[in-house]
Amino acid sequence: MNIQSPVTALFQTDKWDRSRGSKAVAAVAAVHAEAVDRSARFPSEAFAAARAERLLGAMIPTNLGGQGASVSEIVEVCYALGRACASTGMIYAMHQIMVACLVRHGGDADWARDLQRRVGTEQLLLGSSTTDGKGGGDLRNSSCAVTQQGSGMELTKSATVISYGAQADAILTTARRSPEAASSDQVLVAATKEQYTLEPSVGWDTLGMRGTCSSGFTLRANAPTRQVFEDSYQLINARTVLPIAHLTWGAVWAGAAAGAVERARQFIRGAARNASGQLPPGAAHLTRASATLRALRSTIASAMARYEAAAQDHDHLDSLDFQGAMNLLKVNASEMAIATVMSALQATGLSGYRNDSACSVGRNLRDVLSSSIMINNDRILANVASATMLTEVPQSLRD
Ligand SMILES: Cc1cc2nc3c(=O)[nH]c(=O)nc-3n(C[C@H](O)[C@H](O)[C@H](O)COP(=O)(O)OP(=O)(O)OC[C@H]3O[C@@H](n4cnc5c(N)ncnc54)[C@H](O)[C@@H]3O)c2cc1C
Repeated sequence: MNIQSPVTALFQTDKWDRSRGSKAVAAVAAVHAEAVDRSARFPSEAFAAARAERLLGAMIPTNLGGQGASVSEIVEVCYALGRACASTGMIYAMHQIMVACLVRHGGDADWARDLQRRVGTEQLLLGSSTTDGKGGGDLRNSSCAVTQQGSGMELTKSATVISYGAQADAILTTARRSPEAASSDQVLVAATKEQYTLEPSVGWDTLGMRGTCSSGFTLRANAPTRQVFEDSYQLINARTVLPIAHLTWGAVWAGAAAGAVERARQFIRGAARNASGQLPPGAAHLTRASATLRALRSTIASAMARYEAAAQDHDHLDSLDFQGAMNLLKVNASEMAIATVMSALQATGLSGYRNDSACSVGRNLRDVLSSSIMINNDRILANVASATMLTEVPQSLRD
């Protein structure tokens, strides 16, 4: 895995040879962002562009038709797309988390290699189904179970949220290992579109992240048993889903916050121009927005460096300290992203509050507010509480 220094790894997109593709897709996403938000529709133009630029298979190894991109490169793309259209960025992030599961946990199994090859060459879009019935954001417990049927398996899940379920080409879903298994004894199952049906249950008319089309469905899958990952979901979640989700989500929220700061900057510059260079009173809020954005970017950058340094060290990935740090990354990133957009709103005043102004930060605010409930921050803080109690307070700034 490509290990770079914390800051250079993240936000110097010109050093990344795939940056041209990411810029091209971001430009398309920006053009359609308002329409996607208004109609709560899938950002089809941006994903057509992403396929054309081969961004969906970027993390697939080169020998399987991908580009072998590192996690930090993917995080960069998430930031660029998040700036343009947070829904596009979030869909891309969720897809890449599933690609990472396939690459890191699919092993040498023929089905996993075939699916990787299809993602690399056909640019398949992978969805994720963890939310199960009334379980909400409790990723580590499932109600539904895998049932053996001859050489195959089947499962039925009341999936209250599956982002872009209708547009996905394959879904990776959690389930109990068997009908007798405890709710936390989970496996991850991959099923391609022809191996499942989705019966719509609830729609997706939300405040923000409207383009993710995260409707509810009854998911019925019928697939060969070999498509159950050998690694337990507990392990896949700890080593891959948790860190990569929180890094890529954080980057998307940072992107949405950066988009708001850019609008606030334009507003303050315009106001200063109209007042012969005199800064308007809201200028201090722009400074505050830039400061929290800067802190947010360096929080993600240092977490990224920590993840990449530990990516092959299973003991480190499994340690309480690493798990706690990656969990808190999500809470911190979400709080800082919201604070940044709120400062941008204060800086822009009524112009930013209006939906019909060039300086509107309304969509950024609505999108970024999803960050604290997408696996609720309260749930994460409660889960990390015991580990925090056991972790010693660092003796130096470098620990
Ligand atoms: C944009 C977006 C896209 C999504 N995409 C997908 C997807 O593709 N696939 C998928 O499976 N899911 C998806 N989800 C759902 C997500 O994974 C969570 O399941 C969902 O955010 C949980 O929301 P909840 O409020 O219903 O549930 P909960 O997390 O159960 O929270 C409900 C309430 O209980 C409180 N609470 C819960 N636990 C605790 C605790 N331990 N301590 C204190 N308070 C607690 C919370 O504060 C909250 O008020 C998506 C969510 C969003 C916002």
